[in-house]
Amino acid sequence: MSDTGPFACRACGERAVEPVLSLGRLPLVNALVDPGAAEPDDRYPLDVVRCARCTLVQITETVAPETLFRSYSYFSSYSDTMLDHARRFAGAATEELELDGDSLVVEAASNDGYLLRFFVDRGVRVLGIEPARNVADAARAQGIETVSEFLDEPLARRVVSERGAADLVVANNVLAHVPDLRGFVGALATLAGERGRVVIEVPYLRDLVDRLEFDTIYHEHLSYFTVTSLQRVLEANGLGIERVERHPIHGGSLRVQASAGADTNGTVERFLAEEQSWGVDDPRRFAEFAGAVDALRSDVHELVAGLDASGATIAAYGAAAKGVVLANVCGLDATLVRFVADRNPEKQGKLLPGVRIPVATPETLARERPDYCLLFAWNLADEIVAQQAEYVHRGGRFVAPVPTPRVLAA
Ligand SMILES: [Zn+2]
Repeated sequence: MSDTGPFACRACGERAVEPVLSLGRLPLVNALVDPGAAEPDDRYPLDVVRCARCTLVQITETVAPETLFRSYSYFSSYSDTMLDHARRFAGAATEELELDGDSLVVEAASNDGYLLRFFVDRGVRVLGIEPARNVADAARAQGIETVSEFLDEPLARRVVSERGAADLVVANNVLAHVPDLRGFVGALATLAGERGRVVIEVPYLRDLVDRLEFDTIYHEHLSYFTVTSLQRVLEANGLGIERVERHPIHGGSLRVQASAGADTNGTVERFLAEEQSWGVDDPRRFAEFAGAVDALRSDVHELVAGLDASGATIAAYGAAAKGVVLANVCGLDATLVRFVADRNPEKQGKLLPGVRIPVATPETLARERPDYCLLFAWNLADEIVAQQAEYVHRGGRFVAPVPTPRVLAA
């Protein structure tokens, strides 16, 4: 832990929290291992709790950002699905907010510029904020102006004093990573000022729970949001929610649009009411989830061990975070899974932490033709299966592990 006091809710400071689920001690998902590494991989507890006051679901362990992001090798631009999602968002936002050469779009955790480049293409001024230096360098190489710092209130004030408030502030898939959630949301509000819009995308806790997506729980994801918990932390920082949408990306996400002084509208009320009847405030909902996750963990292990015992060869696709969690939590190591294919050259040749499964190129799948290929990156299943048509054509079978482990039809 980076602080030694009793745990306090990241959104509201409440100390009363209820346990939801423990996944044991896991390695960091981005800490890929060099072959031949002698030291055991570092592990940290992965315990999920729920705030008794604001309902925010969160993990208790805060691994220092310097440790988490030391070997950060996630480049958004490697996924076609995410690029399409970003392109559509930039187009719609430019039209709706009538953005032009005088407008400013600021993105927190702008990664390699996967989104901002679509605004640049439309002549809109942009500023990326990306703390991972190597990733920020990749963005600058594409002509995306990027500040390589963590977003906090002083940085937000500096940006506004130098460039004015932003017309659009984007925070996609970053809120979950932020230890000081209150402070970060305050910085977003400062960037947007009185008139700017704040658009936030977060994975939706309801989808995680309903579809048993336990493999999206890892140390980089500190918080797991609903409209209920988001509304409370936004309101505490003077932001009202104007609109809520659900999107299929990342296994089910919320896109929330907020601005200073906005009134809660009908869509927001509908989400809040649905979440109440779903059980956002009910410990029984979460106890049922924990029981189902435990059953799924053993089902996945038994399916793979059974295929192995029958003499079949098994590989996997997707060395991303959820693959590392899935393999570790379900006890799938290199004796069961020969390799994991991945498009990212930064990962190829290394080993998944904890389970030490080697990462290979996608071409390895077609060449070695294992009998079964586990879809570790099940959120990109359609894309992967389409790219690997040759593997299936030659008799290979994909296996989807979540929410019900099953062999996919050819
Ligand atoms: Zn709270």
